[in-house]
Amino acid sequence: MYQAKAYSAASATAELAATSIPRRATTPRDVQIEILFCGICHSDLHAVRDEWNSVMPTVYPIVPGHEIVGRVTQVGSEVSNFKPGDLVGVGCLVDSDHDCPSCNNNVEQFCPDAVFTYNAPDQHGTAPVTYGGYSESIVVDERFVLKVPENLQLAGVAPLLCAGITTYSPIRRWGDIQGKKVGVVGLGGLGHMGVKFAKAFGAFVTVFTTSPRKREDALRLGADEVIVSTDPEQMQAQAGSFAFILDTVAAEHDINAYLGMLGLDGNLTLVGAPETPYAVSAFALLFGRKSLSGSLIGGIAETQEMLDFCGAHNITSDVEVIPIQQINQAYQRLAKADVKYRFSIDMASLK
Ligand code: NAP
Ligand code: ZN
Repeated sequence: MYQAKAYSAASATAELAATSIPRRATTPRDVQIEILFCGICHSDLHAVRDEWNSVMPTVYPIVPGHEIVGRVTQVGSEVSNFKPGDLVGVGCLVDSDHDCPSCNNNVEQFCPDAVFTYNAPDQHGTAPVTYGGYSESIVVDERFVLKVPENLQLAGVAPLLCAGITTYSPIRRWGDIQGKKVGVVGLGGLGHMGVKFAKAFGAFVTVFTTSPRKREDALRLGADEVIVSTDPEQMQAQAGSFAFILDTVAAEHDINAYLGMLGLDGNLTLVGAPETPYAVSAFALLFGRKSLSGSLIGGIAETQEMLDFCGAHNITSDVEVIPIQQINQAYQRLAKADVKYRFSIDMASLK
């Protein structure tokens, strides 16, 4: 075991502060990674503030961070896919049972024994729970380490490991969106990646935003149309016109409005995870045979596919790079939907 510098929160109301955490010594299957950048996901904020208490209560201290990019510093004796110096990524998952139907179907995120990157029971006993990427280093089983294309700008790669795969996966799963009308609700970290992927796959992309000031950015990011969702007239004009809508909103809102915008057999997929349940109108689903579903990150193979796709198409996240000392101000801005469009922590600032 060794000690690594990190940032943690001691309670739901405490600010994040500098600390040092134990990391395990590299086992035969492990890869030790020096973290270069870590994105700040809204899930980090939900978890730090214990907003998901009813589903997954937060164990303190918490070290968040599941959008990790870095360089391999050491590998265990049985590691075959990585060597020191390799550019790698780690997302929301660090282990699973490798043996259940979900693992066998490459959807490890649904394994009953999936181990999330932070706030999950630590199977290695290094600490009570896993500690995430707001740290100078991390040690991860090689089966959960991704290869990162060398041609991409690294600060913008980190968010691909969560915001990227979380939007890529449901868009791919929905099928061929070429020429179809696709909506993305909420232009934040997930939303702006959803716009980029939907555009890359040839859709006509409409952004729904509560922030009129984001209009120009939405168009620059690839949207064909921007609807201010607080304007009932603009909203009504969209009724029945969408094949697929991806909802990335981090707070309670009226999802029936978006069900009403779907055409026949249209689908609304939720990826946003507010703590309060939604009210769903049965009639909004019955007429038009519409469906409502959810999606959770993506499996390891699909995450690698997404990273390779980003490498080939030069896709990264639009980031505001910050030193870790500005983390608490960044959280305040994230809570107000005031980020363009993801914070990425430059981990050199932790040295
Ligand atoms: P984010 O950067 O804060 O973006 C969320 C966006 O939602 C905001 O930028 C804002 O966009 C909109 N919004 C916020 N409050 C709203 C409100 N009261 N009403 C309507 N719109 C509102 O967050 P994120 O990192 O993209 O994460 C979004 C959600 O997805 C979070 O709940 C997060 O936990 C969840 N998540 C889920 C998964 C998964 O696997 N399913 C993975 C990662 C994250 P506008 O300003 O454009 O309105
Ligand atoms: Zn995330």
